[in-house]
Amino acid sequence: MSFALSREHEEFRQVVREFARAEIAPHVAEWDDKHHFPVDVVVKMGELGLFGLTAPEEYGGAGDFTGLCVAIEELGRVDQGIGITLEAAVGLGINPILTFGTKAQKDRWLPDLVAGRALAAFGLTEPASGSDAGATRTHAELVDGEWVINGSKQFITNSGSSLTSVVTATARTGTLADGTPEVSSILVPADTDGFVAEPGYNKLGWHCSDTHPLTFVDVRVPEDHLLGERGRGFPQFLATLDDGRVAIAALALGCIEACLEMSVQYAGERETFGVPIGRKQGVAFRVSDLAVMAEAARGLVYKAAALKDAGAPAATFKQAASIAKLYATESAVTATRIATQVFGGYGFMEEYSVARFYRDAKVLEIGEGTSEVQRIIIARGLGLPVE
Ligand SMILES: Cc1cc2nc3c(=O)[nH]c(=O)nc-3n(C[C@H](O)[C@H](O)[C@H](O)COP(=O)(O)OP(=O)(O)OC[C@H]3O[C@@H](n4cnc5c(N)ncnc54)[C@H](O)[C@@H]3O)c2cc1C
Repeated sequence: MSFALSREHEEFRQVVREFARAEIAPHVAEWDDKHHFPVDVVVKMGELGLFGLTAPEEYGGAGDFTGLCVAIEELGRVDQGIGITLEAAVGLGINPILTFGTKAQKDRWLPDLVAGRALAAFGLTEPASGSDAGATRTHAELVDGEWVINGSKQFITNSGSSLTSVVTATARTGTLADGTPEVSSILVPADTDGFVAEPGYNKLGWHCSDTHPLTFVDVRVPEDHLLGERGRGFPQFLATLDDGRVAIAALALGCIEACLEMSVQYAGERETFGVPIGRKQGVAFRVSDLAVMAEAARGLVYKAAALKDAGAPAATFKQAASIAKLYATESAVTATRIATQVFGGYGFMEEYSVARFYRDAKVLEIGEGTSEVQRIIIARGLGLPVE
């Protein structure tokens, strides 16, 4: 049993770290301030191969989920908004097409997505259905060989940028014999008439990520834009989210590590009462807690990633993914609170990136299944009859 990543993964980590240091770190405070989505940097991330990490070789990828987690962790150490852009592009954009798409669908969409020349989004959440995502109200009707889609989606990442090429939308396509909705996934090219990405949100954090509400008014796409089997939308998005949760946990790990690094440095430099604050146990012990969180989160993230890469049974992976997501994201929120406290009043000032991490962390406990949803999944995995 090994507790270390391979040499190849560690070398790859250095490549991404250097990229983030050179291309992201010098500009990110300004992007954050201006709520700017840096298209040119996303394209460069594509040139570095980051969007193809999980795709098979025939689509120009490397089939390496652990590598994706390393990349997200490293980007997330520098900026969480850039990290989520990669996470959503691969985990929510590419993954459903890769896993459930026909050869024709893959051939049409994947080459540009894998190269980072285009972005795909996953439209699951709606104004009235988030955690209860199966209760989708968006509906699609098959009329003369075309799906006619009406409805709306809420909080969709990478859905309205100039790079966005396609959105996988879940929609009610009928009613099952037991009266529950039949839910399917349909690929909607971003330039389809009636599809509108509404203006982006004014978010608390992740300012340089691209997030929009979506509206579908009599959107017509050919019947063959159905993704996967009709009526299998629900299990499809559950499987998609399992992968995404590990990737979000990797993003949270990057956040904890950033808090640790900033706090160690600041506690060694800032003086009160004639000594560095790191001499005070009240400060040093909190920084020790950050190191424990980072180590524990790292173990959970890369255990779950290794299970994915090894093709572990779905139930085993699902449990590991939810445990990693729950622990890493709740720890990230705690870590940003500790780091901000270490920085004192300076931590409340936007000139210090600790303030940005503080704002960015909260959503980690919400996106791709809230902490409560993770606890439900884990409890069910334990055999409990929790609702
Ligand atoms: C910045 C951002 C980006 C996002 N990107 C995407 C995206 O790309 N694609 C996409 O489809 N969605 C996306 N989402 C949506 C996100 O996945 C949902 O916000 C999330 O799943 C929660 O849904 P909700 O907001 O409707 O909250 P609700 O489901 O209304 O939950 C409200 C509260 O009730 C709790 N709760 C709900 N049900 C239960 C229960 N059964 N037991 C205990 N507690 C419960 C929740 O945990 C939460 O605390 C994004 C969200 C944000 C903020």
